[in-house]
Amino acid sequence: MSQIDRLVEIWLASRSVLVFTGAGISTASGIPDFRGPKGLWRKWQPVYYQDFLASHRSRIEHWRFKLAAWDAFQEASPNGAHTALAELQRRGWIQTLVTQNIDGLHQLAGCPQNAVIELHGTNCLVQCLRCNQKSDPGPAYESFRNTNEPPLCKCGGCLKPATVSFGQSMPREPMRKALEAAAQADLVVSSGSSLSVEPAASVPLTAKQSGAFYAIVNQGCTAHDAYADLIISGDVTLVLPTVARELPES
Ligand code: NAD
Repeated sequence: MSQIDRLVEIWLASRSVLVFTGAGISTASGIPDFRGPKGLWRKWQPVYYQDFLASHRSRIEHWRFKLAAWDAFQEASPNGAHTALAELQRRGWIQTLVTQNIDGLHQLAGCPQNAVIELHGTNCLVQCLRCNQKSDPGPAYESFRNTNEPPLCKCGGCLKPATVSFGQSMPREPMRKALEAAAQADLVVSSGSSLSVEPAASVPLTAKQSGAFYAIVNQGCTAHDAYADLIISGDVTLVLPTVARELPES
């Protein structure tokens, strides 16, 4: 029996499935990951949240990094992995979809907004750090592109892409919901993630520690390989559509 067949067999016998996704789900859509062979950390150093708050220079650095990736984010469309997961969710084979991604591609593939738990916020909005208002990011990127000055809200506060930076607290409600679902899952599938970013990576591990079968679909090793019951080392855009084809309309 192949490893994919084994995953399908376990999936068929599971009642509560949590899928946990990372940047590797979106590399085939043209958005680089952080730690893969073409990962962004080979070119950029992350700006920590405290530095963004404290220093004009760090705000410029953060906006430069975000602007460099902005065109790729805008042009990206869902690939076969996103479509397979949306289809599995529609058919009732996925009870909870938790993502570390900020690209909105699960939703563009057809997952309802309220059926995707985004742990690290979204690149599809910017947020004012003074009045907290969220808005369309287009004007902020245009302003930075033209002036090289960090964009400001109408209230005068600093605008920041609505994503969670290193050193910034996680949004509480998504993390609470994800951990609650993890504790009830009987199958957890991590896909396209190095599983090295905490506390996000504690979500699939909570499921495993609560008794779920733990499957990992990824190219390259992850920080959870030692905990996994099944590792499928492969391209998510091939593996996940195969799984979706094997699981019937329920
Ligand atoms: P990561 O970069 O740490 O790991 C990605 C993993 O996916 C790597 O192991 C890589 O080898 C693997 N991978 C790449 N393409 C793959 C493919 N086609 N098939 C199978 N595996 C593939 O990413 P992470 O674990 O998600 O954690 C880092 C952080 O990256 C997250 O917080 C996330 O917010 C952020 N991020 C998000 C995006 C996005 O929204 N698309 C892009 C870059 C970074």
